[in-house]
Amino acid sequence: MTEIQPRKSATPAPTSWEYAPAPESREVVTLRERYDHYVGGEWLEPSETYTTISPSSEESLAQIGQASPEEVGLAVAAARDAFANGWSALPGAERAKYLFRIARILQERAREFAVLESLNGGKPIKESRDVDLPLAAAHFFYYAGWADKLEYAFPNRSPKPLGVAAQIIPWNFPLLMLAWKIAPALACGNTVVLKPAETTPLTALLFCDVVRQAELPPGVVNIVTGDGRTGAALVTHDDVDKIAFTGSTEVGKAIQRELAGSGKRLTLELGGKAANVIFDDAALDQAVEGIVNGIYFNQGHVCCAGSRLLVQESIYEQLIGKLKRRLSTLRVGDPLDKNTDVGAINSKLQLEKIEELVAAGKEEGAEIYQPPCTLPEKGYWFAPTVFTNVAQSYRIAQEEIFGPVLSVLTFRTPDEAVEKANNTMYGLSAGVWTEKGSRILWMAERLRAGVVWANTYNRFDPASPFGGYRESGFGREGGRHGLEPYLKFDE
Ligand code: NDP
Repeated sequence: MTEIQPRKSATPAPTSWEYAPAPESREVVTLRERYDHYVGGEWLEPSETYTTISPSSEESLAQIGQASPEEVGLAVAAARDAFANGWSALPGAERAKYLFRIARILQERAREFAVLESLNGGKPIKESRDVDLPLAAAHFFYYAGWADKLEYAFPNRSPKPLGVAAQIIPWNFPLLMLAWKIAPALACGNTVVLKPAETTPLTALLFCDVVRQAELPPGVVNIVTGDGRTGAALVTHDDVDKIAFTGSTEVGKAIQRELAGSGKRLTLELGGKAANVIFDDAALDQAVEGIVNGIYFNQGHVCCAGSRLLVQESIYEQLIGKLKRRLSTLRVGDPLDKNTDVGAINSKLQLEKIEELVAAGKEEGAEIYQPPCTLPEKGYWFAPTVFTNVAQSYRIAQEEIFGPVLSVLTFRTPDEAVEKANNTMYGLSAGVWTEKGSRILWMAERLRAGVVWANTYNRFDPASPFGGYRESGFGREGGRHGLEPYLKFDE
């Protein structure tokens, strides 16, 4: 028998993997030159405007209204009028029909919304397409289901709507945060005035089209755009009954101070510095995926991001090795490319904040790792970053960076893990990775966080309440709990 000769391959095995560009078309979106405020079912021309841009290219997209206190006043008056003249008295089953309609229209126009969200906010299209849009529609579906069942949700308590809700949302999940705010408010019979963030107003303004298409009575949903001054005018307006705010702890505290003694209802969903805790019995490859999803999803612009990784000492080297390898496969770039994993930083201001905290981390003595990646020249970008050698006192272990930056700490025992995880002024979320169910329950009991994920991270469902305590705020959004802040009771 002749010996088998190994075949000489003409083409050597590839050592790296290149993805061909897979751009999503922008054609589906038609931008207007100028967007007005949406008040009482009509477009209200703003007295002042500013330019909104695409953070990935710095390209100007449209002129946006900067609402003055007078314009805010008109929106509140329209909401009050709609509340008093029909909406609050409408049977729940009728309100539900509008919410179902909105949910279905969002599904039908999902691609248009997803492209616009990525264009204006910088997040990867695969996230806006597969996370933001389906969840926004799901929220409207979910609360449509509650609209005629409030008596069952709160038996013997005669739930009633509050009136006009002022809602202020941030730039990290513009349409999804709008859905979290508007869906429960309307389901309970309130009317709303919503202010999107200054940098990401476009999907909220496109949503006005959906509201019209659904034939929602004029004034039930009003949208005013502008910066923090508009938000402040809305919060301090005498005729709003409730304020729902999602954003920074600093502004949240200022709002709470402002409202003290006013009798206005308030819910605050603020910052976080969540611990993602990896025990030595965890499935490590899955945990690595969970870590990546926890901190690099949406460029780390996530209030519940797993920004502090706590690793059990015995698996530290192995896990960090795997994590670094995984990081080198993340694709950073054009948000509209369907292959992109990490998109653009939302604004120049936010990029500067990330850079400042990363510089502080290096100065304090942490060791930085960034995979080799070429960042686009235009726009605002930051490479996925891991800090090891981090002490608990470092700013990068204490402050919310709100960017793709992970700080790694270690622990030896479960008690130490709990101690370190709770060593923060925040209390929004946490993650636990272990194969032992008993340990998950043990940890969940001790972690001071509103949400604890086990062997997963950043999972959301409209039926599941979300919110924090301590400096992460108070009040819950989602689930039956999410109805309560929009109701008063005869008790
Ligand atoms: P802000 O808290 O300033 O923004 C949230 C919303 O509040 C925006 O719509 C903003 O308007 C508005 N706003 C600002 N000032 C006031 C005010 N005085 N009264 C009423 N509304 C106001 O967050 P930033 O965008 O400035 O981000 C700063 C930091 O906050 C980030 O770096 C991040 O750490 C954290 N953050 C946390 C979020 C979370 O979900 N936990 C979300 C966003 C940010 P405008 O956009 O025009 O300023």
